Amino acid sequence: MLTNDQLGNWDRENFFHPSTHLAQFARGDAPQRIVSTGKGVFIEDREGTKLLDAFAGLYCVNVGYGRPEIADAIAEQAKELAYYHAYAGHGTEASITLAKMVLDRAPDHMSKVYFGLSGSDANETNIKLVWYYNNILGRPEKKKIISRWRGYHGSGLMTGSLTGLELFHKKFDLPLSQVIHTEAPYYYRREDTAQSEADFVAHCAAELEALIEREGPDTIAAMIGEPVLGTGGIVPPPAGYWDAIQAVLNKYDILLIADEVVTGFGRLGSMFGSAHYGIKPDIITIAKGLTSAYAPLSGSIISDKVWKVLEKGTDENGVIGHGWTYAAHPIGAAAGVANLSLIDSLGLVENAGKTGAYLNKAMTDAIGDHPNVGEVRGEGMLCAVELVENKGSRKFYDPAGQTGAKVVAAMLKRGVIARAMPQGDIIGFAPPLCLSEAEADQIVAATAGAVKEVLG
Ligand code: PMP
Repeated sequence: MLTNDQLGNWDRENFFHPSTHLAQFARGDAPQRIVSTGKGVFIEDREGTKLLDAFAGLYCVNVGYGRPEIADAIAEQAKELAYYHAYAGHGTEASITLAKMVLDRAPDHMSKVYFGLSGSDANETNIKLVWYYNNILGRPEKKKIISRWRGYHGSGLMTGSLTGLELFHKKFDLPLSQVIHTEAPYYYRREDTAQSEADFVAHCAAELEALIEREGPDTIAAMIGEPVLGTGGIVPPPAGYWDAIQAVLNKYDILLIADEVVTGFGRLGSMFGSAHYGIKPDIITIAKGLTSAYAPLSGSIISDKVWKVLEKGTDENGVIGHGWTYAAHPIGAAAGVANLSLIDSLGLVENAGKTGAYLNKAMTDAIGDHPNVGEVRGEGMLCAVELVENKGSRKFYDPAGQTGAKVVAAMLKRGVIARAMPQGDIIGFAPPLCLSEAEADQIVAATAGAVKEVLG
Protein backbone atom coordinates (compact mmCIF):
# COMPACT_ATOMS: atom_id res chain seq x y z
CA MET A 1 0.00 0.00 0.00
CA LEU A 2 1.41 3.38 -0.96
CA THR A 3 1.92 5.85 1.85
CA ASN A 4 0.18 9.20 1.72
CA ASP A 5 3.57 10.91 1.39
CA GLN A 6 4.50 8.79 -1.64
CA LEU A 7 1.19 9.49 -3.34
CA GLY A 8 1.45 13.19 -2.55
CA ASN A 9 4.90 13.37 -4.13
CA TRP A 10 3.84 11.46 -7.25
CA ASP A 11 0.85 13.80 -7.49
CA ARG A 12 3.02 16.92 -7.47
CA GLU A 13 5.59 15.39 -9.82
CA ASN A 14 3.32 13.88 -12.49
CA PHE A 15 -0.26 15.04 -12.38
CA PHE A 16 -1.37 18.15 -14.34
CA HIS A 17 -4.50 19.15 -12.42
CA PRO A 18 -7.25 21.18 -14.14
CA SER A 19 -8.14 24.64 -12.84
CA THR A 20 -5.16 24.69 -10.49
CA HIS A 21 -2.32 27.13 -9.76
CA LEU A 22 0.33 24.91 -11.37
CA ALA A 23 3.41 26.52 -9.87
CA GLN A 24 2.07 26.72 -6.32
CA PHE A 25 0.87 23.11 -6.49
CA ALA A 26 4.19 21.80 -7.77
CA ARG A 27 5.98 23.70 -4.96
CA GLY A 28 3.63 22.24 -2.38
CA ASP A 29 2.14 25.68 -1.55
CA ALA A 30 -1.40 24.88 -2.72
CA PRO A 31 -4.03 22.62 -1.16
CA GLN A 32 -3.79 18.94 -2.00
CA ARG A 33 -6.38 16.36 -1.06
CA ILE A 34 -6.43 12.71 -2.06
CA VAL A 35 -10.02 11.57 -1.82
CA SER A 36 -10.70 7.93 -1.10
CA THR A 37 -14.36 7.20 -0.32
CA GLY A 38 -17.81 8.76 -0.30
CA LYS A 39 -21.19 7.96 1.20
CA GLY A 40 -24.34 10.08 0.99
CA VAL A 41 -23.32 13.75 1.13
CA PHE A 42 -19.91 12.99 2.70
CA ILE A 43 -16.49 12.26 1.24
CA GLU A 44 -13.42 11.06 3.11
CA ASP A 45 -9.77 11.58 2.22
CA ARG A 46 -6.68 9.44 2.76
CA GLU A 47 -5.90 11.23 6.02
CA GLY A 48 -9.30 10.12 7.33
CA THR A 49 -10.83 13.60 7.20
CA LYS A 50 -14.58 13.36 6.63
CA LEU A 51 -16.20 16.33 4.87
CA LEU A 52 -19.78 17.26 4.02
CA ASP A 53 -19.59 17.98 0.28
CA ALA A 54 -21.90 20.98 -0.10
CA PHE A 55 -20.90 21.29 -3.77
CA ALA A 56 -21.62 17.66 -4.83
CA GLY A 57 -18.18 17.41 -6.47
CA LEU A 58 -18.68 20.00 -9.20
CA TYR A 59 -22.46 20.17 -8.78
CA CYS A 60 -22.75 16.74 -10.28
CA VAL A 61 -23.07 13.95 -7.69
CA ASN A 62 -26.79 14.63 -7.47
CA VAL A 63 -27.88 11.32 -5.93
CA GLY A 64 -25.02 11.41 -3.42
CA TYR A 65 -21.99 9.15 -3.09
CA GLY A 66 -21.84 5.37 -2.73
CA ARG A 67 -25.09 4.29 -4.40
CA PRO A 68 -24.82 0.52 -5.01
CA GLU A 69 -27.68 0.59 -7.55
CA ILE A 70 -25.53 2.62 -9.97
CA ALA A 71 -22.27 0.84 -9.15
CA ASP A 72 -23.94 -2.53 -9.84
CA ALA A 73 -25.42 -1.32 -13.13
CA ILE A 74 -21.97 -0.15 -14.24
CA ALA A 75 -20.33 -3.44 -13.23
CA GLU A 76 -22.97 -5.53 -15.00
CA GLN A 77 -22.67 -3.48 -18.18
CA ALA A 78 -18.86 -3.70 -18.11
CA LYS A 79 -19.00 -7.48 -17.75
CA GLU A 80 -21.64 -7.95 -20.45
CA LEU A 81 -20.42 -5.40 -23.02
CA ALA A 82 -17.98 -2.68 -21.97
CA TYR A 83 -18.12 -0.92 -25.29
CA TYR A 84 -19.63 -0.76 -28.67
CA HIS A 85 -19.90 2.38 -30.77
CA ALA A 86 -23.09 4.17 -31.73
CA TYR A 87 -22.17 5.03 -35.33
CA ALA A 88 -24.29 4.00 -38.31
CA GLY A 89 -27.31 2.90 -36.33
CA HIS A 90 -25.59 0.82 -33.63
CA GLY A 91 -26.91 0.93 -30.09
CA THR A 92 -27.16 -0.97 -26.83
CA GLU A 93 -30.09 -1.67 -24.58
CA ALA A 94 -28.70 0.89 -22.12
CA SER A 95 -28.22 3.73 -24.62
CA ILE A 96 -31.61 3.20 -26.28
CA THR A 97 -33.39 2.97 -22.91
CA LEU A 98 -31.65 6.10 -21.65
CA ALA A 99 -32.59 8.07 -24.77
CA LYS A 100 -36.24 7.16 -24.13
CA MET A 101 -35.97 8.07 -20.42
CA VAL A 102 -34.43 11.46 -21.23
CA LEU A 103 -37.08 12.30 -23.82
CA ASP A 104 -39.86 11.19 -21.46
CA ARG A 105 -38.61 13.78 -18.96
CA ALA A 106 -37.78 16.58 -21.42
CA PRO A 107 -40.23 19.28 -22.58
CA ASP A 108 -42.82 17.95 -25.07
CA HIS A 109 -41.43 19.67 -28.15
CA MET A 110 -38.06 17.88 -27.89
CA SER A 111 -37.46 15.06 -30.35
CA LYS A 112 -34.06 13.29 -30.09
CA VAL A 113 -30.99 13.09 -27.87
CA TYR A 114 -27.35 12.92 -29.00
CA PHE A 115 -25.04 11.53 -26.28
CA GLY A 116 -21.53 12.85 -25.66
CA LEU A 117 -19.06 12.68 -22.77
CA SER A 118 -18.88 16.09 -21.11
CA GLY A 119 -20.82 19.33 -20.92
CA SER A 120 -18.12 20.94 -23.04
CA ASP A 121 -18.35 18.48 -25.92
CA ALA A 122 -22.16 18.60 -25.82
CA ASN A 123 -22.03 22.36 -26.30
CA GLU A 124 -19.47 21.96 -29.11
CA THR A 125 -21.99 19.58 -30.73
CA ASN A 126 -24.75 22.12 -30.26
CA ILE A 127 -22.89 24.91 -32.02
CA LYS A 128 -21.93 22.64 -34.92
CA LEU A 129 -25.57 21.55 -35.28
CA VAL A 130 -26.75 25.16 -35.27
CA TRP A 131 -24.27 25.99 -38.05
CA TYR A 132 -25.31 22.90 -40.02
CA TYR A 133 -28.97 23.91 -39.53
CA ASN A 134 -28.43 27.35 -41.01
CA ASN A 135 -26.39 25.98 -43.90
CA ILE A 136 -29.18 23.55 -44.76
CA LEU A 137 -31.70 26.41 -44.55
CA GLY A 138 -29.58 28.32 -47.08
CA ARG A 139 -28.40 31.12 -44.78
CA PRO A 140 -24.66 30.53 -44.45
CA GLU A 141 -24.00 33.98 -42.99
CA LYS A 142 -26.24 33.35 -39.92
CA LYS A 143 -23.53 31.91 -37.62
CA LYS A 144 -22.67 34.12 -34.63
CA ILE A 145 -23.54 32.87 -31.16
CA ILE A 146 -24.64 35.13 -28.31
CA SER A 147 -23.67 34.18 -24.78
CA ARG A 148 -23.87 36.12 -21.50
CA TRP A 149 -21.06 37.59 -19.48
CA ARG A 150 -20.63 35.28 -16.46
CA GLY A 151 -22.13 32.37 -18.39
CA TYR A 152 -20.24 29.06 -18.18
CA HIS A 153 -20.47 26.61 -21.06
CA GLY A 154 -17.21 24.67 -21.00
CA SER A 155 -13.48 24.86 -21.60
CA GLY A 156 -13.08 23.92 -25.28
CA LEU A 157 -12.19 26.38 -28.03
CA MET A 158 -15.79 27.29 -28.84
CA THR A 159 -17.23 26.55 -25.42
CA GLY A 160 -14.42 28.39 -23.62
CA SER A 161 -15.32 31.32 -25.89
CA LEU A 162 -18.99 31.06 -24.94
CA THR A 163 -17.98 31.07 -21.28
CA GLY A 164 -18.14 34.71 -20.23
CA LEU A 165 -15.46 34.69 -17.53
CA GLU A 166 -12.11 36.35 -18.06
CA LEU A 167 -10.17 33.55 -16.37
CA PHE A 168 -11.16 31.15 -19.15
CA HIS A 169 -10.09 33.53 -21.94
CA LYS A 170 -6.92 35.11 -20.58
CA LYS A 171 -3.76 33.95 -22.43
CA PHE A 172 -5.73 31.39 -24.47
CA ASP A 173 -6.52 33.76 -27.39
CA LEU A 174 -10.24 33.43 -26.66
CA PRO A 175 -13.02 34.26 -27.30
CA LEU A 176 -13.19 33.23 -30.96
CA SER A 177 -14.65 35.87 -33.26
CA GLN A 178 -18.00 34.07 -33.82
CA VAL A 179 -18.97 34.58 -30.17
CA ILE A 180 -20.47 37.78 -28.79
CA HIS A 181 -21.48 38.45 -25.19
CA THR A 182 -24.42 40.29 -23.71
CA GLU A 183 -25.27 41.42 -20.20
CA ALA A 184 -25.80 38.92 -17.38
CA PRO A 185 -29.18 39.01 -15.59
CA TYR A 186 -27.41 39.89 -12.36
CA TYR A 187 -29.90 42.13 -10.60
CA TYR A 188 -27.77 42.60 -7.47
CA ARG A 189 -24.95 44.03 -9.62
CA ARG A 190 -27.14 46.26 -11.83
CA GLU A 191 -25.47 49.55 -12.67
CA ASP A 192 -28.55 51.66 -12.04
CA THR A 193 -29.56 50.85 -8.47
CA ALA A 194 -32.84 52.73 -8.92
CA GLN A 195 -34.02 50.08 -11.40
CA SER A 196 -36.83 47.77 -10.27
CA GLU A 197 -36.54 44.10 -11.25
CA ALA A 198 -39.00 44.69 -14.08
CA ASP A 199 -37.00 47.72 -15.32
CA PHE A 200 -33.81 45.69 -15.17
CA VAL A 201 -35.38 42.85 -17.18
CA ALA A 202 -36.52 45.36 -19.82
CA HIS A 203 -32.97 46.75 -19.83
CA CYS A 204 -31.43 43.26 -20.40
CA ALA A 205 -33.85 42.60 -23.27
CA ALA A 206 -33.10 46.03 -24.79
CA GLU A 207 -29.33 45.38 -24.51
CA LEU A 208 -29.78 42.06 -26.29
CA GLU A 209 -31.85 43.66 -29.03
CA ALA A 210 -29.33 46.47 -29.50
CA LEU A 211 -26.52 43.90 -29.83
CA ILE A 212 -28.50 41.96 -32.44
CA GLU A 213 -29.25 45.13 -34.42
CA ARG A 214 -25.62 46.26 -34.20
CA GLU A 215 -24.23 42.95 -35.43
CA GLY A 216 -27.02 42.35 -37.95
CA PRO A 217 -29.80 39.83 -37.21
CA ASP A 218 -28.92 37.86 -40.36
CA THR A 219 -25.49 37.08 -38.88
CA ILE A 220 -26.76 35.64 -35.59
CA ALA A 221 -27.61 31.95 -35.29
CA ALA A 222 -28.30 31.28 -31.63
CA MET A 223 -28.12 32.39 -28.04
CA ILE A 224 -26.94 30.07 -25.26
CA GLY A 225 -27.75 30.52 -21.58
CA GLU A 226 -28.02 28.63 -18.31
CA PRO A 227 -31.48 28.89 -16.73
CA VAL A 228 -29.63 29.96 -13.54
CA LEU A 229 -26.11 31.33 -14.03
CA GLY A 230 -23.87 28.76 -12.32
CA THR A 231 -20.11 29.08 -12.22
CA GLY A 232 -20.48 32.81 -12.89
CA GLY A 233 -21.89 33.24 -9.38
CA ILE A 234 -25.09 31.17 -8.94
CA VAL A 235 -27.44 33.92 -10.03
CA PRO A 236 -31.14 33.09 -10.53
CA PRO A 237 -32.74 35.34 -13.14
CA PRO A 238 -35.13 38.11 -12.14
CA ALA A 239 -38.83 37.34 -12.71
CA GLY A 240 -39.84 37.60 -16.35
CA TYR A 241 -36.27 37.53 -17.69
CA TRP A 242 -36.61 34.44 -19.88
CA ASP A 243 -39.95 35.57 -21.35
CA ALA A 244 -38.43 38.92 -22.31
CA ILE A 245 -35.30 37.33 -23.82
CA GLN A 246 -37.29 34.75 -25.80
CA ALA A 247 -39.52 37.45 -27.27
CA VAL A 248 -36.42 39.16 -28.70
CA LEU A 249 -34.94 35.90 -30.04
CA ASN A 250 -38.21 34.92 -31.70
CA LYS A 251 -38.49 38.32 -33.36
CA TYR A 252 -35.10 37.81 -35.08
CA ASP A 253 -35.39 34.06 -35.77
CA ILE A 254 -32.51 33.19 -33.41
CA LEU A 255 -32.35 29.73 -31.82
CA LEU A 256 -32.11 29.26 -28.05
CA ILE A 257 -29.82 26.70 -26.43
CA ALA A 258 -30.66 26.11 -22.77
CA ASP A 259 -27.49 24.89 -21.07
CA GLU A 260 -28.95 22.65 -18.37
CA VAL A 261 -25.71 20.91 -17.44
CA VAL A 262 -26.25 22.06 -13.85
CA THR A 263 -30.02 22.49 -13.76
CA GLY A 264 -31.08 19.34 -15.65
CA PHE A 265 -32.64 16.43 -13.71
CA GLY A 266 -33.85 18.18 -10.64
CA ARG A 267 -31.46 20.69 -9.15
CA LEU A 268 -34.01 23.53 -9.19
CA GLY A 269 -36.80 21.37 -7.78
CA SER A 270 -38.16 20.82 -11.32
CA MET A 271 -36.96 18.13 -13.74
CA PHE A 272 -35.55 20.84 -16.03
CA GLY A 273 -34.83 24.54 -15.59
CA SER A 274 -36.68 25.09 -18.87
CA ALA A 275 -39.90 23.83 -17.28
CA HIS A 276 -39.12 25.83 -14.12
CA TYR A 277 -38.88 29.16 -15.96
CA GLY A 278 -41.15 28.55 -19.00
CA ILE A 279 -38.21 28.43 -21.42
CA LYS A 280 -38.90 26.84 -24.83
CA PRO A 281 -35.41 25.96 -26.05
CA ASP A 282 -34.45 24.59 -29.46
CA ILE A 283 -31.63 22.55 -27.91
CA ILE A 284 -30.98 21.54 -24.28
CA THR A 285 -27.51 20.61 -23.00
CA ILE A 286 -27.37 17.93 -20.30
CA ALA A 287 -24.47 16.30 -18.43
CA LYS A 288 -23.69 16.17 -14.68
CA GLY A 289 -27.12 15.11 -13.30
CA LEU A 290 -27.65 12.64 -16.17
CA THR A 291 -25.42 10.06 -14.43
CA SER A 292 -24.75 11.94 -11.16
CA ALA A 293 -21.12 11.73 -12.37
CA TYR A 294 -20.88 7.98 -11.71
CA ALA A 295 -19.61 7.82 -15.31
CA PRO A 296 -18.95 10.60 -17.84
CA LEU A 297 -21.94 11.21 -20.10
CA SER A 298 -23.59 14.26 -21.61
CA GLY A 299 -26.26 14.96 -24.16
CA SER A 300 -27.83 17.41 -26.58
CA ILE A 301 -31.61 17.22 -26.65
CA ILE A 302 -32.85 18.44 -30.02
CA SER A 303 -36.28 19.95 -30.73
CA ASP A 304 -38.62 18.81 -33.51
CA LYS A 305 -37.94 22.04 -35.38
CA VAL A 306 -34.15 21.53 -35.50
CA TRP A 307 -34.40 17.77 -36.02
CA LYS A 308 -36.49 18.14 -39.20
CA VAL A 309 -33.77 20.31 -40.74
CA LEU A 310 -31.00 17.89 -39.69
CA GLU A 311 -32.88 15.05 -41.39
CA LYS A 312 -33.28 17.13 -44.53
CA GLY A 313 -29.54 17.85 -44.40
CA THR A 314 -28.64 14.18 -44.52
CA ASP A 315 -31.12 13.54 -47.33
CA GLU A 316 -29.23 16.19 -49.32
CA ASN A 317 -25.65 15.54 -48.12
CA GLY A 318 -25.41 12.02 -46.77
CA VAL A 319 -24.25 10.89 -43.32
CA ILE A 320 -23.84 13.68 -40.75
CA GLY A 321 -20.10 14.14 -40.24
CA HIS A 322 -20.10 14.41 -36.47
CA GLY A 323 -19.32 11.78 -33.87
CA TRP A 324 -17.12 10.80 -30.93
CA THR A 325 -15.74 7.29 -30.38
CA TYR A 326 -17.30 7.26 -26.93
CA ALA A 327 -20.64 8.86 -27.84
CA ALA A 328 -23.41 7.00 -25.94
CA HIS A 329 -20.81 4.85 -24.14
CA PRO A 330 -22.68 1.81 -22.76
CA ILE A 331 -21.18 2.15 -19.27
CA GLY A 332 -22.24 5.80 -19.04
CA ALA A 333 -25.65 4.90 -20.41
CA ALA A 334 -26.09 2.10 -17.85
CA ALA A 335 -25.14 4.56 -15.11
CA GLY A 336 -27.65 7.05 -16.53
CA VAL A 337 -30.53 4.55 -16.55
CA ALA A 338 -29.84 3.54 -12.93
CA ASN A 339 -29.36 7.16 -11.88
CA LEU A 340 -32.59 8.50 -13.40
CA SER A 341 -34.51 5.58 -11.89
CA LEU A 342 -33.02 6.40 -8.49
CA ILE A 343 -33.89 10.09 -8.79
CA ASP A 344 -37.52 9.04 -9.32
CA SER A 345 -37.69 6.35 -6.64
CA LEU A 346 -36.08 8.56 -3.98
CA GLY A 347 -38.18 11.60 -4.91
CA LEU A 348 -35.04 13.70 -5.29
CA VAL A 349 -36.53 16.38 -7.54
CA GLU A 350 -39.09 17.11 -4.86
CA ASN A 351 -36.45 17.01 -2.12
CA ALA A 352 -34.26 19.45 -4.05
CA GLY A 353 -37.11 21.96 -4.04
CA LYS A 354 -38.08 21.40 -0.42
CA THR A 355 -34.71 21.03 1.30
CA GLY A 356 -33.16 23.59 -1.07
CA ALA A 357 -35.72 26.16 0.09
CA TYR A 358 -34.95 25.20 3.69
CA LEU A 359 -31.20 25.67 3.10
CA ASN A 360 -31.68 29.07 1.44
CA LYS A 361 -33.94 30.31 4.22
CA ALA A 362 -31.68 29.03 6.99
CA MET A 363 -28.65 30.65 5.31
CA THR A 364 -30.48 33.98 4.97
CA ASP A 365 -31.66 33.85 8.58
CA ALA A 366 -28.16 33.02 9.84
CA ILE A 367 -26.00 35.52 7.93
CA GLY A 368 -28.22 37.69 5.71
CA ASP A 369 -27.83 40.65 8.08
CA HIS A 370 -24.05 40.41 8.39
CA PRO A 371 -22.47 43.73 7.29
CA ASN A 372 -20.23 41.96 4.74
CA VAL A 373 -22.87 39.70 3.25
CA GLY A 374 -24.22 41.62 0.27
CA GLU A 375 -26.73 39.01 -0.77
CA VAL A 376 -27.82 35.45 -0.07
CA ARG A 377 -29.58 34.07 -3.16
CA GLY A 378 -30.56 30.74 -4.63
CA GLU A 379 -33.12 28.54 -6.26
CA GLY A 380 -33.84 24.90 -5.48
CA MET A 381 -30.67 23.15 -4.30
CA LEU A 382 -28.44 26.06 -5.31
CA CYS A 383 -27.37 28.80 -2.94
CA ALA A 384 -24.79 31.60 -3.00
CA VAL A 385 -23.45 34.06 -0.48
CA GLU A 386 -21.93 37.19 -2.01
CA LEU A 387 -19.37 38.88 0.22
CA VAL A 388 -18.75 42.61 -0.04
CA GLU A 389 -16.45 45.04 1.68
CA ASN A 390 -19.23 47.58 1.87
CA LYS A 391 -22.87 46.58 1.84
CA GLY A 392 -24.20 50.03 0.90
CA SER A 393 -21.97 50.50 -2.15
CA ARG A 394 -21.75 46.74 -2.94
CA LYS A 395 -17.97 47.26 -3.12
CA PHE A 396 -15.96 44.11 -3.83
CA TYR A 397 -13.01 43.15 -1.68
CA ASP A 398 -9.62 43.58 -3.30
CA PRO A 399 -9.17 40.23 -5.14
CA ALA A 400 -5.60 40.00 -3.80
CA GLY A 401 -7.05 39.47 -0.31
CA GLN A 402 -8.68 36.18 -1.44
CA THR A 403 -11.57 36.78 0.94
CA GLY A 404 -13.85 34.15 -0.58
CA ALA A 405 -11.08 31.54 -0.57
CA LYS A 406 -10.34 32.31 3.09
CA VAL A 407 -13.97 31.78 4.07
CA VAL A 408 -14.05 28.50 2.16
CA ALA A 409 -10.84 27.40 3.94
CA ALA A 410 -12.39 28.30 7.30
CA MET A 411 -15.42 26.19 6.35
CA LEU A 412 -13.20 23.22 5.59
CA LYS A 413 -11.86 23.38 9.15
CA ARG A 414 -15.51 23.02 10.16
CA GLY A 415 -15.95 19.94 7.98
CA VAL A 416 -17.86 21.44 5.05
CA ILE A 417 -16.82 21.87 1.40
CA ALA A 418 -18.19 24.95 -0.37
CA ARG A 419 -16.78 26.58 -3.50
CA ALA A 420 -15.23 30.00 -3.93
CA MET A 421 -16.69 30.91 -7.33
CA PRO A 422 -14.09 32.13 -9.85
CA GLN A 423 -15.07 35.80 -10.14
CA GLY A 424 -15.92 37.89 -7.08
CA ASP A 425 -16.06 36.73 -3.49
CA ILE A 426 -19.03 34.46 -3.93
CA ILE A 427 -19.38 31.30 -1.85
CA GLY A 428 -21.35 28.69 -3.80
CA PHE A 429 -23.42 25.76 -2.51
CA ALA A 430 -24.84 22.97 -4.68
CA PRO A 431 -25.20 19.94 -2.40
CA PRO A 432 -26.42 16.52 -3.51
CA LEU A 433 -30.18 16.55 -4.02
CA CYS A 434 -30.60 14.01 -1.20
CA LEU A 435 -29.50 16.56 1.43
CA SER A 436 -31.43 16.37 4.73
CA GLU A 437 -32.47 19.36 6.85
CA ALA A 438 -29.96 18.33 9.55
CA GLU A 439 -27.18 18.36 6.92
CA ALA A 440 -28.40 21.74 5.66
CA ASP A 441 -28.13 23.02 9.25
CA GLN A 442 -24.53 21.75 9.35
CA ILE A 443 -23.71 23.70 6.15
CA VAL A 444 -25.27 26.87 7.53
CA ALA A 445 -23.49 26.56 10.90
CA ALA A 446 -20.12 26.09 9.17
CA THR A 447 -20.75 29.10 6.90
CA ALA A 448 -21.82 31.35 9.76
CA GLY A 449 -18.80 30.27 11.84
CA ALA A 450 -16.38 30.82 8.94
CA VAL A 451 -17.82 34.23 8.03
CA LYS A 452 -17.48 35.31 11.66
CA GLU A 453 -13.92 33.98 11.92
CA VAL A 454 -12.70 35.68 8.71
CA LEU A 455 -14.81 38.85 8.59
CA GLY A 456 -15.77 39.39 12.22
N1 PMP B 1 -22.20 24.01 -19.00
C1 PMP B 1 -22.39 24.32 -17.73
C2 PMP B 1 -23.59 25.12 -17.36
C3 PMP B 1 -21.50 23.89 -16.75
O1 PMP B 1 -21.69 24.24 -15.47
C4 PMP B 1 -20.39 23.11 -17.13
C5 PMP B 1 -19.39 22.58 -16.11
N2 PMP B 1 -19.37 23.16 -14.89
C6 PMP B 1 -20.23 22.83 -18.48
C7 PMP B 1 -21.15 23.28 -19.39
C8 PMP B 1 -19.05 22.04 -18.96
O2 PMP B 1 -19.15 20.74 -18.57
P1 PMP B 1 -17.84 19.81 -18.51
O3 PMP B 1 -16.98 20.35 -17.42
O4 PMP B 1 -18.42 18.45 -18.24
O5 PMP B 1 -17.20 19.89 -19.83
